[in-house]
Parts: sequence; structure tokens; C-alpha cells
Amino acid sequence: MSPATLAVSAGRPARSQGAPVNAPLVLSSTFVSQGVPEPGEPLYGRMDATTWHPFEEALGTLEGSAHPALVYSSGMSAIAAALSLVPPGGRLVLPRHSYQVTLGYARDLAERLGVDVALVDIDDTAAVAAALASPRPASMLWVETPTNPMLEVADLPALVEAAHAVGALVGVDNTFATPLVQRPLEHGADVVVHSVTKYLAGHTDVVLGAALADDAALHARLHAYRTLHGSIAGPFEVWLALRGLRTLALRVERAQASAAELARRLSTHPGVAEVRHPSLPTDPGHERAARLMTGFGSIIGLRPHGGPDAADGVVAALQLWVPATSLGGVESMLERRRRFATESLTVPEDLLRLSVGIEDVEDLWRDLDRALRSV
Ligand SMILES: *Cc1c(COP(=O)(O)O)cnc(C)c1O
Repeated sequence: MSPATLAVSAGRPARSQGAPVNAPLVLSSTFVSQGVPEPGEPLYGRMDATTWHPFEEALGTLEGSAHPALVYSSGMSAIAAALSLVPPGGRLVLPRHSYQVTLGYARDLAERLGVDVALVDIDDTAAVAAALASPRPASMLWVETPTNPMLEVADLPALVEAAHAVGALVGVDNTFATPLVQRPLEHGADVVVHSVTKYLAGHTDVVLGAALADDAALHARLHAYRTLHGSIAGPFEVWLALRGLRTLALRVERAQASAAELARRLSTHPGVAEVRHPSLPTDPGHERAARLMTGFGSIIGLRPHGGPDAADGVVAALQLWVPATSLGGVESMLERRRRFATESLTVPEDLLRLSVGIEDVEDLWRDLDRALRSV
């Protein structure tokens, strides 16, 4: 069945007369148990919680994984679990424009565990392959594609091949694309993570993460990390995320269509110096995205004329778009990324990251057009 159908149908309770259509929300920290527990028996809320299962099953199915997903308290805790697969003193290759906090975590691994961290331009396949091989073979390649916030598109199958050739694991942060647009496990990635906070939950009311692996031993290590660190999700967050996941296909389709239309209009707007969206035929990531992804996503990079002050002016002048630091929700949001002192210095100071939501595209355009003309 198509992913759009699976997003609706996976993880439902078994059909029997009188059964609920939706999985119940169970609020219980422990479960009745005596004697030697059977494998898989609910025992204690840090080890397992029945309310996690329907979401984990649905996301596992959507990513085409051999196992259910594993939920974590946040995207970052899922990323920490995945990066724990890099041994002390190992080598980690990751995109220069990775999610900012992932970069912070890599720096922490370097300081605490002597991990040798190499930053690369993830769209430069030859440079990534070189960094994987020397000065010594990498333990892990981390991939974001498209990157946050620069929207570089990686040649994922080529990178997986290069990483595996040197014995490195491949971890992919699939938050931007969602499994509707790109399924990294099918390209041979070893671990996939999500900030479920973003598109999967989709309503800006939950902080949640997830990790997936096909290999049983890797899956067991990710599971053990969660239990040992207690980086677990609350049942209500997971229940809300499953509710959000049911409409993922509609939301992603609408947001992608609007993003492509807005990018097209912005590319000829007099107030715009540069617009980045992989849907644009002139975009450096266009050819690869068209070949490797089933859509172009709904994040736009925008540099207005007039520098960072003008960019701040655009944010302040908008009435419908929400100024906030998240993405993937039903409401359109934007921010100037370099307002954070921690953002990579290779991200232009005037770059606005736009996350296109599901409002009427003409309303979004009128608001943007007016704000761009006002500065
Ligand atoms: C938000 C985000 C994260 C972090 O997820 P949290 O749920 O906020 O911990 C990781 N990667 C990407 C690409 C993100 O956008």
C-alpha cells in the first residue's frame, strides 16, 4: 500500500466487534506483574509503554523498517542514541550545515570521548568520500538531506556506498524529508532518526523523537540506550504524535505544493536577492532531489535585499507567518537563523528559513509580498 494509506491505517487496534478504532492512551507507570516476566510483557514505564507501540509500528512501516521505530523524549535524544554508536576515539563525518544542536553534540563527543569530528559539504560527494577514508576510516557518516537551513541535497546512495566501503555506519536525520519523500533505509542507511516534533506530529504541540534501524543488533543498542538513559517519551506526547501522523500525507502534499509556488514567485520578486528551494530548476539541489526524492519539501531559504536588518524587518512586518524557531507544523513559520550566535558562520547572516504550512497559499503570498515591499 502507498505511504499515504499506511499513515492512516498502520498501528490500529485489531479489528473485533466493539474494539476501539484508535489505540487507547494508557497512563500507568507500571504494569501488573509477578514471577519471571515473559519476553515482551509490559513491566515498567521506562522500559516499555503500551501507548508507544501504535506510533512505533506506524513509523516503522512508513520508513520500510524491519522493526518498529523507537520513540525518545526528543529528536535530540534520538540523535544522541544514534551517535552513541560512534566509539570513543572514533571518527565522525557530518555535514557542516547539520542541525545546530547535532553539531554541538558532536563537539561534546570530541571533547569528552576524543571523537575525531570532520565537517563536510554533504552535497560534495567526492569530498565526503575523501573525509570518510582519510586520515583514517570513519566510524560513522551522519547525513542530513536537505540540510538545515542551507537545503543542500546529498547523493544518498553514493554516500552510503562510500561509507560502507570503509566500514562506517550511516545515520540519516530524515526530519526535513519525512518518510513520504525519502526512505533512507531503502538506500542502505543503518540508522534513521526523526525530530517527530516537526512534520510527523505536525501541530507544534509536542516535543518527541524517534530512531529506526533494520539490523537487529543496532536496534537492540538503540533500545538499550533509551532504557539506560531514561530518554523516554510521555504516553500523551506519543498519542498526540500518532494523531498528527494520520494526516501527514495531506499536510506534506499541501505544504510542498505551496512551498514550490511561493519559491517560484519569490524568485522574481524585486525585494529578493536569493531564494533556495530544490523545486526551482535553477537550484543546485534540483536534479538530485528530482532523482532521489518524491518531493521537494516545504522549507525555503530566502535572502531579502538589504542584509540582516532587512531580513529582521521582514520577520517583524509579517502578520500571518509566525516568527518562531521550529518547522513542519500546520502554521507557516520563519526565522533569521544567524540571530543565534551558535549558528554556523557559513550560513549567510541575512538568510531566513521559511517553513511553509497548510494555510491558503494566496494568504501566505500576500503577507510575504507586503512584508518584503515594506522594508
Ligand atoms: C528540530 C530538529 C532536531 C531536534 O529535534 P528536537 O525534537 O527539537 O529535539 C534535529 N534535527 C532536525 C533536522 C531538526 O529540525
